[in-house]
Amino acid sequence: MDTSQQKVKDECGVIAVHAPEAGKLAVLGLHALQHRGQESAGVATFDGAVHLHKAMGLVESVFACDPSLPGSWAIGHNRYSTTGSSTAVNAGPFEVASRFGPLVLAHNGNILNAPILRGWLADSFNLTLHSDSDSEVLALLLSVAPGDSWIERLQWMADRVIGSYSLVLLAGDRLIGVRDPMGNRPLAMGRIAEGWVLASESCAFSLLGGIPVRDVQPGEVVEIGQDGPIPGGWLTPARHAFCAFEHIYIARPDTLFAGRAVHAVRRAIGEELGREHPAPADLVIGVPDSGTSAALGFSTSTGIPFGEGLIKNRYVGRTFIQPAQAERERLIRMKFGALPLKGKRIALVDDSIVRGNTLRPIVALVREAGASEVHVRVASPPLTDPCYLGVDMARKDELIANRMGEDELAAHTTADSLRHISVDGLLRAIRGTRDDTCLACFTGRYPPAVQAALPARAEAEEMEMAR
Ligand code: SF4
Repeated sequence: MDTSQQKVKDECGVIAVHAPEAGKLAVLGLHALQHRGQESAGVATFDGAVHLHKAMGLVESVFACDPSLPGSWAIGHNRYSTTGSSTAVNAGPFEVASRFGPLVLAHNGNILNAPILRGWLADSFNLTLHSDSDSEVLALLLSVAPGDSWIERLQWMADRVIGSYSLVLLAGDRLIGVRDPMGNRPLAMGRIAEGWVLASESCAFSLLGGIPVRDVQPGEVVEIGQDGPIPGGWLTPARHAFCAFEHIYIARPDTLFAGRAVHAVRRAIGEELGREHPAPADLVIGVPDSGTSAALGFSTSTGIPFGEGLIKNRYVGRTFIQPAQAERERLIRMKFGALPLKGKRIALVDDSIVRGNTLRPIVALVREAGASEVHVRVASPPLTDPCYLGVDMARKDELIANRMGEDELAAHTTADSLRHISVDGLLRAIRGTRDDTCLACFTGRYPPAVQAALPARAEAEEMEMAR
């Protein structure tokens, strides 16, 4: 669901291009990845020297001035801050000097031990950090990393960081892409007419007139040289933990993960949801846009017709303010309108419930349109724990599933019933297992390295706050 108060904030989108006019193509690709981050955008190119343009704002406004970005090598970044404040100094990509020339890095993910590494880089290498972004920490780690190859330097970095990272690097006339060994965040490789692209999501390739080639695998390092991909390598393996929320909410429906469109995965989630929790309804409607695919699947498995019920006003922008409840209800009414639903029993499919405060006005809207019953069906298991790997959801005490059971939540939102898909149902739909998928925001069980780092992270945060 996407309301004017976006309930789950996506993290970042990255892109790398090797082709004529790579800078222009990277900007174009960032448009396709805008849903992954809306706070700032930036592109760096290389033509013997690095050219970097980045600023706060959406891609359209950041590049409205048509900056000069010459060269056939480029990387780009859309940012939403999960670590570091929302200021221009934290905008990506990050350029650093290194012993092997200028290095530019764009990062999607979150590094839990960034505060500790920041101090270590300053004390041990006498480096000055200019931002509080974890991406700058990664760039500086690589700038001092020993080793003669990118694999060696990246392994040195990987041995020191705890967290999630899908990275693209611009290192002179070389592009490097890497996914952390958990494969927590996506990264894909695509082919365009005169070159190659790496991007967080394959939806960026079609905008560039290209086609997806394959996903970069967890722990894989890929390199693109003058003539295209060259043999890369692998980081030390770890248990895989791809983010289940990429399937549920974050990724664009036309993106492919492992060759399967996210839209198809969301339909499958809706089908499982319908099998687990059918509803006594005459019509299935989705909360647009991200609930729509799951609503179609719910209709398929229950045999209840799908129809349009809620209409989204596409001209109401996203805002990060925290409105009071009365204001929130007005914002929901600005965002959605309802078609006549007189006398109909409605199955209302939403992608997830975070704080629970936007669902109530939506149920009210459906009732005002004439619905006689509203049965809410949720395409994610109850959200009980925060994300430390790059998705800004809410604190544990803010997550409504920790305060109310399903029946209580139904009463709170004035729905006639409310049910979530189970974790096992979700895994069947996404074709994942507990050994290759991160489900921590539903189960509280984080990937092992993350779990082990949480006490130290809490301590470092307390020390930073005390300073
Ligand atoms: S905790 Fe949730 S949102 Fe975060 S990586 Fe894991 S599945 Fe994704």
